[in-house]
Amino acid sequence: MESTILLLSYLIGSITFIIGLKMLSHPETARKGNLVAAAGMTLAIFATIFLWENPNTHERLHNYGWIFGGLIIGTIVGTMAAKKVQMTSMPEMVSLFNGMGGACAMLISLIEYRKPEAKSMGEMIVVVLGMLIGTVSFAGSMVAWGKLNGRIKDRTIPGAQAINFLLFGGMIVLAIMVIGGFTSNPYLFYGILALAAAYGILFVMPIGGADMPVVISLLNSFTGCAAAFGGFLYDNPVMLTGGILVGSAGTILTILMCKAMNRSLKNVLIGSFGGQKAGTAAGDKEQGAYKEISLNDTAVLMAYAQKVMIIPGYGLAVAQAQHACHELEKVLEEKGVEVSYGIHPVAGRMPGHMNVLLAEADVPYEKLLEMEDANDQMASENVVLILGANDVVNPAAKDDPASPIFGMPILEVEKAEHVIVNKRSMKPGYAGIENELFFRPKTSMLFGDAKKVLQSLVAELKQV
Ligand code: NDP
Repeated sequence: MESTILLLSYLIGSITFIIGLKMLSHPETARKGNLVAAAGMTLAIFATIFLWENPNTHERLHNYGWIFGGLIIGTIVGTMAAKKVQMTSMPEMVSLFNGMGGACAMLISLIEYRKPEAKSMGEMIVVVLGMLIGTVSFAGSMVAWGKLNGRIKDRTIPGAQAINFLLFGGMIVLAIMVIGGFTSNPYLFYGILALAAAYGILFVMPIGGADMPVVISLLNSFTGCAAAFGGFLYDNPVMLTGGILVGSAGTILTILMCKAMNRSLKNVLIGSFGGQKAGTAAGDKEQGAYKEISLNDTAVLMAYAQKVMIIPGYGLAVAQAQHACHELEKVLEEKGVEVSYGIHPVAGRMPGHMNVLLAEADVPYEKLLEMEDANDQMASENVVLILGANDVVNPAAKDDPASPIFGMPILEVEKAEHVIVNKRSMKPGYAGIENELFFRPKTSMLFGDAKKVLQSLVAELKQV
């Protein structure tokens, strides 16, 4: 009876993951989707704690002190971190939590390996692969976390490709030896762990320019796969389903990100190592003069436009200006202006960042145009207002083969009649490169913090 209830809980848990994931695909249902999946996860956790029994010894879990101690500490830390986190630090937190998933998979494998019971070759494959992928994901995510919050700079490591190749080869050889039972020396197993950790660090460390989004989604899929191996190991269907869903969603996202960046995965992981060195670093190149535009002139230009496209970027998230941006859109529409948003797939610091940000301010989803559609209608726009975006509108991606972002599709804002760029200074964006768009004849700079500028612009527009 109890085993039936346990299986039923796992089934419900798995179904809620699938429903939750489906709901996450639309901003209107995303929040509920998250709750649905979390409820399923809670059910599966408690069912495991109280109903699961060891198939060999028929013993139940009894070390409740440790289990609930961990649950309570984890819940408090997780809740506080999620409540306190600024929207701009969300990508770092996602990376950190992803790394924790990898670390869990690593620890599960480590504990299972150390158990004295003999293991079949199948079990050893799962233990070793779970540990290997989990460790790479943990180490890589920690580096990604450091890079996203600026603590770790992109670094070119001399001979990085050769070192990574050796590390990878070393891991495979050791894994074959351990799985094949050629040795019972536990240090070889720990050797795989050390090599995997070094590989995770070295493979993420040099990735810079605009390739980070691909790496982040790849690490996400690694964690999912590592968790799925845990599911195999414990014959736990809900862990398996969860892991497979995360792994496959991460893989699909990686493919989509590669397409959006016009890069092959191989090119991201190998080809662009040290990309930061090449190209036109900020300040390297003499630029012409840029022209500024006043708030009043911007308001007049926009009020008399027929069509305005807003291009949001990371700076909009920094300024927390999403509500002011929605306000601007409403005021313009009251004046009969048609407003849309051009969304670049890697704008911001995490996949879907701009969609989440604008959904928070209740911007209607139909106004958000994907990059290709935005580019198709760019020529008919009277004004393009760029709010805290930089790399995603940088023409060097098209014109400068030496640029680290060369080849990345961009929002082709210069096809529009007027381009207005709002940012605080002439400083570069994430890729650290100069943006010639700011010096082009069609472009006018509107300096200031996005929120303050938008609030003042709304006030001006109401006067026009
Ligand atoms: P960028 O990082 O290129 O540029 C953001 C700009 O916002 C800066 O130039 C900054 O200029 C400006 N800014 C900062 N704060 C404010 C503010 N308060 N008000 C107004 N402007 C502000 O952002 P994009 O969105 O264009 O591009 C994203 C970049 O991040 C890409 O290179 C992408 O590859 C990378 N990336 C994306 C990830 C993803 O998954 N989406 C993950 C990791 C990296 P100033 O300081 O002068 O104000």
